[in-house]
Amino acid sequence: MLKERTIGAEITYSGIGLHTGKEVKMRLLPAESGTGIVFRRTDLPGSSEIQARPSNVGSTLFCTTLAIGDVRIHTIEHVMAALAGMSIDNVIVEVDSVELPVGDGSSEVFIDLLEEVGIKEQDTLVRSVSVDEPIWVSDKGGKYLIALPGEEFRVSYVFASDHPAVGDQFAEFEITRKIFSKEIAPARTLAFADVIKALKERNMGRGGNSNIAVIVGEKEILTPLRFPNEIVRHKILDLVGDLWLLGRFKGHVIGVKSGHSLNNRLARKIEERIKRC
Ligand SMILES: [Zn+2]
Repeated sequence: MLKERTIGAEITYSGIGLHTGKEVKMRLLPAESGTGIVFRRTDLPGSSEIQARPSNVGSTLFCTTLAIGDVRIHTIEHVMAALAGMSIDNVIVEVDSVELPVGDGSSEVFIDLLEEVGIKEQDTLVRSVSVDEPIWVSDKGGKYLIALPGEEFRVSYVFASDHPAVGDQFAEFEITRKIFSKEIAPARTLAFADVIKALKERNMGRGGNSNIAVIVGEKEILTPLRFPNEIVRHKILDLVGDLWLLGRFKGHVIGVKSGHSLNNRLARKIEERIKRC
């Protein structure tokens, strides 16, 4: 039987936030069994904490944002994906800003930090989250996200685009620590050059540049790729991170053109069912 896990020691990391473009200090602290993943804003007075769970997601525009009242924490998904990849159930994530550091736009830097301090197995047995029948959500534009029953955590994803240099991409992985670190964690965010321009005009995406994203111009991909299908691999990374808000998921998830919004809607639907059981 699997046991709950936390990190072996405290981790400190400073990096640029994607939207503010400012340096953000993040600290990961080991936590007791049953804590789950808890985010804490150290720049706000009082105990400004938000538990990572699907119903605490306040926005999915451009990134996954946790929000309770006035407390908001943007861009949690790449850290959540690294925690998922390492199967870390309990940790406190402190941050002194409104967003997490973006690293290189992938989860690689966070995986490296976690590998450095190692994992500590705890006494409590893991309670996995699963579905006993297909659960799905959809959106206009042919977007779908489906969770099927299964004994392992597997993700299949179809990325569709009429962009001449990007096209359609498909990938499928069983999500294990080894496969996540090697095949998924290094895949970076996709950013269209014209969207970056629009974000900057809205005072967002200030930390965005070619070091932290695969930049796609009008006709070509402007960044050297880490994988020929890096874009679909990053979509899987985001999905794994967004589903970790549920805890350990067991089953087969199939995404078609889905993103943070559908990821959260599916996670909420599964969360609702768990409550009802
Ligand atoms: Zn992402």
